[in-house]
Amino acid sequence: MFDWLIIGGGIHGTYLSLYLTRRKRLSIEQVRVLDPHPQPLALWQHFTANTGMSYLRSPHAHNLHYDPFSLITFTRTRDGQPLADFIPPYGRPSLELFNTHSQRLIERYDLDALRLLGRAQGLERLAEGWRVQTDADAIEARNVILAFSNTERPFWPEWAKTAQAEGADIHHLFDPAYRRSTPSGKTLVVGGGITAAQVATALSLEAPGNITLLMRHEPRVHQFDSDLGWITHQHLDSFYQDTDYARRRQLIRTARHRGSMPPDVIDELEKAVQHGLLEQRIDEVSRLQVQPEGDSPKLHFTLTSGNTLQADQIILATGFEISRPGGAWLDTAINNYGLPVAADGFPIVDHHLCWSPGLFVSGSLAELEIGPVARNFIGVKLAAERIGALI
Ligand SMILES: Cc1cc2nc3c(=O)[nH]c(=O)nc-3n(C[C@H](O)[C@H](O)[C@H](O)COP(=O)(O)OP(=O)(O)OC[C@H]3O[C@@H](n4cnc5c(N)ncnc54)[C@H](O)[C@@H]3O)c2cc1C
Repeated sequence: MFDWLIIGGGIHGTYLSLYLTRRKRLSIEQVRVLDPHPQPLALWQHFTANTGMSYLRSPHAHNLHYDPFSLITFTRTRDGQPLADFIPPYGRPSLELFNTHSQRLIERYDLDALRLLGRAQGLERLAEGWRVQTDADAIEARNVILAFSNTERPFWPEWAKTAQAEGADIHHLFDPAYRRSTPSGKTLVVGGGITAAQVATALSLEAPGNITLLMRHEPRVHQFDSDLGWITHQHLDSFYQDTDYARRRQLIRTARHRGSMPPDVIDELEKAVQHGLLEQRIDEVSRLQVQPEGDSPKLHFTLTSGNTLQADQIILATGFEISRPGGAWLDTAINNYGLPVAADGFPIVDHHLCWSPGLFVSGSLAELEIGPVARNFIGVKLAAERIGALI
């Protein structure tokens, strides 16, 4: 039996494994990370590569190490110095720097050795911990941390599902199986936030004049996806004082700047539009006709404004599902063990993010306790401190 089993080995799970083994000095034998991908951060790397982004939205301090200065320190080493590349404000690192630093941490602290390949499919309470059913063996641990969000569940609008069923060339940028390549025909990018803007800009450089970005609303400019006050007492004090979870959910909804982007991303987008590389439309799909034509059917859109549009392929950048992550196996555990959930279905946990003895959460499952930043990098730093205070 392990002491700690972390389910999910992406940004949150990998951070937690480093935190537990280095900061909390748990031995390598005591901690395991269960994830279906052989490499840590697989989905993060896949999505960010698909997006074509160059810089993170987060400041350098929100890195994979619990030491906020770790990434800066890395840029002072012989290895890291050539990669030192930040943009203002708050020194946001390049994706290459962030990824290389993360990889060095994984190697230096042997985090690969903690990984178990597999997917959690069930949770059974034991006298002294939990048994996690996986697609391979069952694993027993005194403590389990559920450290995944909805990153395997891209959000598909209804019209897009229909289009796919009718044979349209349509992909979601966050489909784990989709690798973006240079588009060969007219491409419609659909989405209103940072990812849509980044991928449309990147594609417009590869296939100038062939890309249209369809946004439901004018670009919303926000540096971060929620105000910095959500990681300090400024907003969190009143959030914690409110014990009504429906109101907490409402606060989270209002605080998260969904479909927003920072000024540098808008600047790049506007430049691409001004140079005629990219067309930007503020509108919405009202109807889509898929007209068979050889291997690649033509797509005829009618938009809410009444205008029309034609394309050969669609790339969705419409984010992830917002429902509680986990799916059926977690529903079963909730029912079997009466795990408390709020009206929105999300866990009600204590200050230490404990849902039931020996069962902890991070990421969006911890949202009602950590607040709007729970799924972000800073969210796992806050989660680790809360859970780690018990060790
Ligand atoms: C393009 C892009 C850019 C972003 N930029 C930023 C940024 O600058 N700053 C910021 O704070 N946030 C950013 N985010 C959000 C950021 O991705 C998330 O904060 C972070 O990746 C979420 O980490 P995670 O560990 O929850 O998810 P992931 O990194 O996706 O890892 C989750 C892991 O859990 C695994 N898993 C799921 N279910 C199971 C199961 N049943 N059993 C075992 N394993 C399972 C998955 O396969 C996956 O490997 C960005 C997101 C995207 C998509």
